[in-house]
Amino acid sequence: MSTKIVHIIGTGPAALMAGTQLAEKGIKIHFYDQKTTPARKFLVAGNGGFNLTHSESLSEFIKKYNRSEIQKAVEQFTNIDFVQFLKKIGIETFTGSSGKIFPKKGIKPIQVIQAWIRYLKNHNAEFHFQYRFIDFNEVTFCVKVEESKKVIPYERLIFALGGASWKKTGSTGEWLSLFKRKGIQCSEFEPSNSGFEISNWEINAKYEGEVFKNCVVSINGVSKLGEIVLTKYGLEGSPIYFLNKAYRINQKSLLHLDFKATKTVDEIKLILQKSKNHSEGLKNLNLSKFVQAFLKNNTSKEIFSSIDALATIIKEFPLTIQSLRPIDEVISTIGGISMDAINSQFQLKQYPNISVCGEMLDWDAPTGGYLIQAAVSSGFIVGRSISKDLI
Ligand SMILES: Cc1cc2nc3c(=O)[nH]c(=O)nc-3n(C[C@H](O)[C@H](O)[C@H](O)COP(=O)(O)OP(=O)(O)OC[C@H]3O[C@@H](n4cnc5c(N)ncnc54)[C@H](O)[C@@H]3O)c2cc1C
Repeated sequence: MSTKIVHIIGTGPAALMAGTQLAEKGIKIHFYDQKTTPARKFLVAGNGGFNLTHSESLSEFIKKYNRSEIQKAVEQFTNIDFVQFLKKIGIETFTGSSGKIFPKKGIKPIQVIQAWIRYLKNHNAEFHFQYRFIDFNEVTFCVKVEESKKVIPYERLIFALGGASWKKTGSTGEWLSLFKRKGIQCSEFEPSNSGFEISNWEINAKYEGEVFKNCVVSINGVSKLGEIVLTKYGLEGSPIYFLNKAYRINQKSLLHLDFKATKTVDEIKLILQKSKNHSEGLKNLNLSKFVQAFLKNNTSKEIFSSIDALATIIKEFPLTIQSLRPIDEVISTIGGISMDAINSQFQLKQYPNISVCGEMLDWDAPTGGYLIQAAVSSGFIVGRSISKDLI
């Protein structure tokens, strides 16, 4: 049993995996979190389908990340490793038809966290809730507990403070200004995996919850096929999240929807021509009742009555993006600590006894298991490298 102690601030998946690697080696872990219970964002993620990771091959998997540091971390602690770890703590998983990996039916998100916390406590880890981290230097960190401040000395410290969306889960991103003041290279948070707010959407707000199936969305030549969910303010869904980057890069505010990706404009024209009228034509194109209604409500009489114009708009329905969603409402954020501020073991170059992992680092990936996997893989690298140093 090691006499070393490691302090970890945060109790999200990145923190828990870093702590797991250390606790399994007999190192004493103290976790701190400003909330009353652990992993609140992980539980929120669990409300919407709860995909823990994805089953695709590693070579395809790592293409989802924009930073080589995260790709390397995922290569070292893969989706298969994560599934095996979950099995070890008593959480069986299954792979859905989309390839996403979920806890086995009947296992609730809270049960995953409870199993993981139980496993850590069995390995002698201690948890301190309602401890708000507020400052650090080379040898101590400071937390606020109720109204008093505690200064705690450390030899090795891990930050896994998360990004800046869904602040009510504890991932407030407030740490960013402190880290910047300390001279650590950081960039401002920006929304990622965000819906699009669409200009002049008012008449379509009534379609909230409806879905465009098999629809291709494009921005400036970048396209994605999938299901798009209509909301009060605009559009959500994985093709929309995929196009966040194209929107950010191009600053283009126009997107196009292709409601009939399997047919060319000429093939659509032919079907419209052969139909009794254009309403009938939309049915003959096998467009859903909802898409038919949407097209009727959103095209002028001139367009609807012209075969050429109607066929074109079915293939390239234009919408103007007003903005991404407010940062607090998006699935993840980019920004945070720059990859240039860390070494290959995720230690801060400026403070080598401090390691960082998870969404607080500046990387991007689509939702669908890739975010949680990056959190646990970076946590794994941090935990494993510190355990090698300490033992
Ligand atoms: C609605 C929603 C749906 C999602 N769906 C998916 C999905 O389907 N698949 C997927 O892979 N990912 C999904 N995610 C993203 C995923 O949950 C996060 O990427 C992941 O939780 C990040 O893990 P983390 O450990 O880096 O940080 P977090 O889980 O954010 O944990 C950070 C922890 O640090 C604590 N903390 C922060 N500041 C302080 C402080 N000053 N003092 C003390 N404690 C502090 C917080 O309280 C929190 O517990 C979703 C997220 C949301 C919001």
